[in-house]
Amino acid sequence: MTAPILRMSKLYAPTLKESPNDAEIASHKLLLRAGMMRKTASGVYTFLPLGYKVLAKVEAIVREEMDAIGAQEIMMPALQPAELWHESGRWNDYGPELMRLCDRHDHDFCLGPTHEELITSLVRNELRSYKQLPLSLYQIQVKFRDEIRPRFGLLRSREFIMKDAYSFHATQESLQETYDDMSRAYGNICDRCGLDYRPVEADSGQIGGKVTTEFMALAPAGEAELVHCSCGYAANTEAGECICHPTLYKNEGLEKIATPNVHTIEELAEFLSIPESSTVKALSGKSDDGRLVVMFVPGDHELNEIKASRAAGGFTLLTDGEMEAFGLHKGSMGPVGLPEGAYVIADRALEAVPAWVVGANEDGYHYVGAALGRDFTVDQWADLSVVKPGDMCPDCGLPLQGARGIEVSQVFQLGTKYSESMGATFMDEDGKEKPFIMGCYGVGVSRTVAAIVEQHSDEGGIAWPMSVAPAHVCVIPLSQDDTVMSTAEKIASQLADLDLEVVIDDRKERPGVKFADADLIGWPLQVVVGKRGLENGTIEVKLRRTGEKRDVPLSTLVELMS
Ligand code: ATP
Ligand code: MG
Ligand code: MG
Ligand code: MG
Repeated sequence: MTAPILRMSKLYAPTLKESPNDAEIASHKLLLRAGMMRKTASGVYTFLPLGYKVLAKVEAIVREEMDAIGAQEIMMPALQPAELWHESGRWNDYGPELMRLCDRHDHDFCLGPTHEELITSLVRNELRSYKQLPLSLYQIQVKFRDEIRPRFGLLRSREFIMKDAYSFHATQESLQETYDDMSRAYGNICDRCGLDYRPVEADSGQIGGKVTTEFMALAPAGEAELVHCSCGYAANTEAGECICHPTLYKNEGLEKIATPNVHTIEELAEFLSIPESSTVKALSGKSDDGRLVVMFVPGDHELNEIKASRAAGGFTLLTDGEMEAFGLHKGSMGPVGLPEGAYVIADRALEAVPAWVVGANEDGYHYVGAALGRDFTVDQWADLSVVKPGDMCPDCGLPLQGARGIEVSQVFQLGTKYSESMGATFMDEDGKEKPFIMGCYGVGVSRTVAAIVEQHSDEGGIAWPMSVAPAHVCVIPLSQDDTVMSTAEKIASQLADLDLEVVIDDRKERPGVKFADADLIGWPLQVVVGKRGLENGTIEVKLRRTGEKRDVPLSTLVELMS
């Protein structure tokens, strides 16, 4: 069935001349201006008809790619009982990003930021035999995360659409196979959405540990920093965010103390009842946002003499001299060298323990997910270095380029973390009961929409790739003249018959308004029907992407488009 022709006169797509003040980046501004979405609350958006069409197209691509590798679609509730999160230990560990609520019977719930607990509990009593493995289940669903800084519209929102998949295996080899399938599918999804992206392997190599790949859409507005090379090599140069959900550890034994809801050093000092006057604040991290390891030392300690200065909007790094003076390793602020009684806080986002963020002997660069003692000794510490722009590519030897990226998706080998803590086991071939080996795989569907706009827009507006455009072609009659209107209508239905998705701008507006809206909304093709052209038997076809215009004989238009 051909799709009905959309009529601009009826369409609910309120376009705006100016972008709202709080919109900083292209995707945020343009999705609002093009009438694709509206803000409901901080980090919470309503999709309007056109925005929803794009979202649905991205979802359809994701669904096809998941179905193609044998993953089966399900739908889990967003509302999750706290008990499951207690079982995994994450009710306490997840921190304030978890949206918690209580029902009328005083039972705790959360709005799912992710679904490992729910899916593990779902299969644990019914997926019983190795013969049923491997199994991959996925859903496309709304997620909730109380991000400390919801911003950039759909890029970092508090309610967003994610495709999350989970796989269950008897062996590591089987997990690896599915992980590779998922990685390929994720690459296909990015390709089909028209994204220029790099798969970035995180936490591998010398640091060891978990296996994960992030798919980064390259864009200056991205919050992640990476290096990449023309040969395909790409790596994270850092991870984590500002100090948002700190977890406190006492330095002896790294005993976890609390996850206070504090956002500044001052609030933290207050939480710890450390008088401001006798507090030493020292931290290692980027000066622009105060990343990441912070140290508190009680007032009577000699470190008290350090005055870590606070620059506008952030903190200043300690100099090497200052560090050495207090027996700290150059460029580092990890647990080593901390005096007795000191506190260390680490960002929750880094899943810091036992993996610390440590200095890398280079201002502003840190190892993330590294555990001193586990991954390297104190002596080795100073010798390790992280990759950064200008370094030579380890794969091909060319200099690495620096870039910013938007994490649109991530694949992750979970291992037995959830199956063990939640008692999800199966009977293996050898008759033994074993915990499932699991993988999890997430695509930020709504974030992908924003990433596409970041890469496909200009001063005039959005330039959707065909694959995700809200419609393929917009027919623009330049006047209300009978011949012009009837020709435009006829062209619209001929194009619709070709299975193109067609919109006609049948509003009584000036041509300038129609052109501006067409460019802003970003239909890939515009077909302009004017009186003068018709007198010569031509209409104009414009490619939004390049701005290229061509006069086409009316008689050959359908041929051209089919
Ligand atoms: P980030 O590092 O940006 O905070 P994340 O690593 O916490 O993302 P995951 O837990 O890996 O996110 O979730 C899977 C995907 O969900 C991410 O790759 C991203 O595309 C999307 N996503 C995560 N948080 C948000 C958000 N606040 N708004 C929109 N999409 C998000
Ligand atoms: Mg996050
Ligand atoms: Mg991330
Ligand atoms: Mg991630």
